[in-house]
Amino acid sequence: MARYWQKERECASREWMKEWQGQQLRETVRRVYENVAPYRNRMEEAGIRPEDIRGIEDLHLLPFTCKQDLRDYYPYEMFAVPMEDVVRIHASSGTTGKQIVVGYTRNDLEIWSDTCARALVAAGADKTDFMHVSYGYGLFTGGLGLHGGAEKLGMTTIPVSTGNSKRQLTIMKDFGSTVICCTPSYALHLGESLKDMGIGKEELRLKAGIFGAEPWTEEMRKEIEAELGLKAYDIYGLTEIIGPGVAFECECQSGMHINEDHFIPEIIDPDTGEVLPLGSTGELVFTCITKEAFPLLRYRTRDIACLDATPCPCGRRLIKMKKPQGRSDDMLIIRGVNVFPSQIESVLLSLGYTAPYYQLVVDRINNTDQLEIQVELNEEHYTDTIKSLQQITRSIAEGIQSTLGISAKIRLVEPRSLPRAEGKAVHVIDKRKLI
Ligand code: ADP
Ligand code: ZN
Repeated sequence: MARYWQKERECASREWMKEWQGQQLRETVRRVYENVAPYRNRMEEAGIRPEDIRGIEDLHLLPFTCKQDLRDYYPYEMFAVPMEDVVRIHASSGTTGKQIVVGYTRNDLEIWSDTCARALVAAGADKTDFMHVSYGYGLFTGGLGLHGGAEKLGMTTIPVSTGNSKRQLTIMKDFGSTVICCTPSYALHLGESLKDMGIGKEELRLKAGIFGAEPWTEEMRKEIEAELGLKAYDIYGLTEIIGPGVAFECECQSGMHINEDHFIPEIIDPDTGEVLPLGSTGELVFTCITKEAFPLLRYRTRDIACLDATPCPCGRRLIKMKKPQGRSDDMLIIRGVNVFPSQIESVLLSLGYTAPYYQLVVDRINNTDQLEIQVELNEEHYTDTIKSLQQITRSIAEGIQSTLGISAKIRLVEPRSLPRAEGKAVHVIDKRKLI
């Protein structure tokens, strides 16, 4: 079985990669300077000419691109090719504000399929597999992105899209799906529906799942693997850069390999914009060096992560990124302490009393931030006595306090009482923003 989709790229030497990135970067900068007015203006303002960028060592000279720029130049002003060469449009799911629009040429779609096919092969898939795509189809990049990769790999691709979990499971069972992709939240929900329908996971043929589009923890990975009887892999991406497939996990599962021959990563200090040394945690920034329609330079993702250049036993030489904890705008500041919802998830699940369904309600009462964690008890602890429920509440509050340094009010709720997500889960209700 093939272990790599494009071995010559995935396992290329660092020297080759640096050379390639430099050459592609020069070419891309020249192209956007000529074709994208906002970039030309900004480079002129900064006093930079395309020939000043000689290789990746000059990347830091280029201005950043932010989400606001994509909103300001909405819908097509940042496109680098005439619209007649654009064969597909996607848009961000609009989780955080006004949606942004991106475009693809035919060649961009080929690149995208390749980056997703790399992820699928790394998860052990080949053309004999049946690929169940439960990401949403439409303007959201999840569905069509992985669909393209699966077809290119030659998998038998089943474009189910999201929703109607019972129907999903019937299809999965009858059609013999072996690989599934969706958000981790939806994977959990499918596991729950499986129990409701009285189908044993051994009646399904699932062997691997490729889950992404939102942050998820190692504890959540274990839950999903147990519920669906598969090995769960992480995949990372964002609409602005291409969609899913910017980075993917290999069988070593110690970070995601970035498809660096297409997207150059940097980590910067989110406050100063300074490039941080390898291994530091900061904001991920990507530069697209092969895309034709929508090549962004130094795009600030607002995702907080770190890079890892240690050689991976899988043989790939592509640099890895640690699982992002979340976006800087998802970070909660509770009485001056920074916390990501994923850190709370990790504490909740490691204690073992609750199911992976929770909501964080933040409010400001008498000028003080208050955090309430509403979390579902798991079936095992649901029947406990009031005394033991009080004990559980206390243990969770102590766990949160000792691990994250914040005090929170814990509200245990009945199994299955919180909303289930078909796409990305909404974990935070911040009432402070409503004031
Ligand atoms: P929107 O910005 O509207 O949510 P996208 O679907 O483009 O639309 O979302 C991309 C974002 O999703 C990334 O910037 C990141 O914050 C998050 N994301 C995607 N994949 C992962 C992953 N594997 N782990 C953590 N976060 C992820
Ligand atoms: Zn690897």
